[in-house]
Amino acid sequence: QARAAGQNSLRFVDLDMQTAIATRAALEADMRLGLERGEFLLHYQPQVDARGDPTGAEALVRWRHPRRGLVSPAEFIPLAEETGLILPLGQWVLESACTHLASWGARPGTAGLTMAVNVSARQFRHPDFVRQVLAVLERTGADPRRLKLELTEGLLIDNVEETVARMIALKAQGVGFSLDDFGTGYSSLAYLKRLPLDQLKIDQSFVRDVLAGGNDATIARTIITLGKSLGLAVIAEGVETEAQRDFLAQHQCDAFQGYLFSRPLAADLIDAFMGARTR
Ligand code: C2E
Ligand code: MG
Ligand code: MG
Ligand code: MG
Repeated sequence: QARAAGQNSLRFVDLDMQTAIATRAALEADMRLGLERGEFLLHYQPQVDARGDPTGAEALVRWRHPRRGLVSPAEFIPLAEETGLILPLGQWVLESACTHLASWGARPGTAGLTMAVNVSARQFRHPDFVRQVLAVLERTGADPRRLKLELTEGLLIDNVEETVARMIALKAQGVGFSLDDFGTGYSSLAYLKRLPLDQLKIDQSFVRDVLAGGNDATIARTIITLGKSLGLAVIAEGVETEAQRDFLAQHQCDAFQGYLFSRPLAADLIDAFMGARTR
């Protein structure tokens, strides 16, 4: 009878769906193994100031899958968030990024550089999050004032008191906060004002068409003005052309990140990039 019921329900699930479920399950199992086997790595994308001088980098996770090659986070971060694997993965990212940050701190030429690390809502909400970040800083010897955590607007939706309390606890040690992909989520200006942020990050979707003559120029300018009036620094992501950079700089955007300056680089290449440009 169980089999009959099983067959029955199977009839209602179409084949694409079955394939999708099987693929996801395989990916999840692969990801668990990958974490154990050390298949994840970080690339680092430079961030530069208005003069084009590097101020730091954003750590971006990659997965070197044994069969599929280098897999982009767009393919596995959402699944990692759903399954909870983002907790061990996020911990690994933080640890690796802070280890790299500590190595910058130890050399005069790179000592002032900052490291931005993406933190997903689920990670941030974990009761141990603050303690874990502080433990990683302690263990790696990275300077908390050089660490910048990138949060997304999803965190603004509920439990703002808790969010603010966690941010304040980390800020007390010097950790900075940037609001990533700004303008694409559920921004509530009332909440934005309450968060102890240091930086707004203009989403690349607005940067892309900033010169196309549509509304994106207005949106980008408005985000810069908003950030400034809240006392925040503003960085633009996805800057690919001189013209985009010039437009944003003209409207007092403080910092930039994008292919115009550099793609995300492997660990040895980011050090070469920073070493070559900072002194
Ligand atoms: P994000 O944090 O908004 O990162 C920016 C993304 O834009 C990166 O994609 C970067 O490679 C890409 N990008 C940078 N410059 C340009 C440009 O000039 N043009 C274009 N078209 N793209 C550019 P990536 O590395 O594939 O990461 C995608 C997303 O995955 C990230 O978006 C972030 O949300 C998430 N992610 C990456 N690493 C981590 C991580 O360690 N933890 C968590 N929770 N999420 C991560
Ligand atoms: Mg980011
Ligand atoms: Mg972003
Ligand atoms: Mg983005």
